[in-house]
Amino acid sequence: MLKTMSWQQARNALLQAAGTAGSETVALEQCGGRVLAADLTAREDVPPFDRSAYDGYALIAADTRNAGRDNPVTLKVIETLPAGKVPETPVRSGQAVRLMTGAPVPEGADTVINYERTEFTDDTVTLFEPLKSGANIVRRGEDILAGTVLAGSGSIIDPGLAGSLAAQGITSVPVYRKPVIGLISTGSEIVESGSPVTAGKIRNSSRHALTALLVQEGCTVSWLGHAADDTDAITALIRTGLSSCDAVILTGGVSAGDWDLTPAAMLQAGAELLVNGIAMKPGMACVCGRAEEKLIFGLSGNPASAFTTMCVCILPAIRRLCGRSQPLPVSLQAELAEDFNKPSRSDRFLRGRISFAGNRVLFHPSSGQGNAVLSGVIGCDAFVMIPAGSGPVRAGEILPGFML
Ligand code: AMP
Ligand code: MG
Repeated sequence: MLKTMSWQQARNALLQAAGTAGSETVALEQCGGRVLAADLTAREDVPPFDRSAYDGYALIAADTRNAGRDNPVTLKVIETLPAGKVPETPVRSGQAVRLMTGAPVPEGADTVINYERTEFTDDTVTLFEPLKSGANIVRRGEDILAGTVLAGSGSIIDPGLAGSLAAQGITSVPVYRKPVIGLISTGSEIVESGSPVTAGKIRNSSRHALTALLVQEGCTVSWLGHAADDTDAITALIRTGLSSCDAVILTGGVSAGDWDLTPAAMLQAGAELLVNGIAMKPGMACVCGRAEEKLIFGLSGNPASAFTTMCVCILPAIRRLCGRSQPLPVSLQAELAEDFNKPSRSDRFLRGRISFAGNRVLFHPSSGQGNAVLSGVIGCDAFVMIPAGSGPVRAGEILPGFML
């Protein structure tokens, strides 16, 4: 029989039990936001040649050593280079090449001056200042040197990485497959959002809150359906999920009431239980297991509780399933912006928003912190935690937390 765990124990147990969903190759155009499935080492210098940072003239810095307003130096322009063209002749003392931003710096030249600082005719350029060798030249490899590690397997492909892949000439990208997460709602009182709500029924909000969260995390969500409070019906949906998905999430029926049948259904579907109750609030009711090497997460029916347990304990395992090498959220320390008056017998997670005031990081709890108050999740970007055994917490106290 599993005992109630701390949220850290539950999170770690689930994270350890999660594998990745395998990999596939996608076109460069499709790779943004996906998770890289191989270490990426640059094979080419970027840029591949020394090039001009300005529209101007390439020349030999030593030719301008004594240049000044009273001592102008005039050089002969031997060639004009638009970007994309290669120089035909090297630059010698007394000569310059007119060139555009991005054009290769010709052999012999070691500096570039933008045309605004010169006077020029069709075939001469006059300089009024000494120039530094190397100025205004973007060096070969200044952006990326061949052999540099750009990103490790498990990194999210962000704009910088997508562009750098392109700069390396990589047109198809190995990424982790998006895991398919099967979603099951249980509860005889639940109706789908498009249906009329008759007496005693409520609309299925959790399904869509969790779908939005999972899509945001890079998963594909498969709606497996809704089961009444009936062990066989729930078991059947879990079995469908095990055969067609990488993991299964259920809501409802995980507490100790007469009609809380999700744990029994998990067992009937062949699951070994890994978590049964977590010492946290909200979201204490949570039963998770594993069957056929796939994780099954059973969350509270209360939508805000389910959301909290997801964020605190389950997302790291889901992120691992997505292939991410750093599945834990970014942690923070924030100053509570308002009093929170309830005592906390177990670790309590408050949902809310972060703001910055000077060098202070402030946490503003949502006005509704109840288990059923899903509207309190709107616009949330962080959680903070009040440790077990705390009394009321005053504004100004510093609490640990994490970003969503
Ligand atoms: P349970 O975890 O089954 O005891 O449900 C706890 C509370 O959450 C009950 O008031 C349920 O009616 C409600 N609930 C269960 N499932 C959902 C859902 N999918 N969407 C919104 N509320 C739900
Ligand atoms: Mg129920």
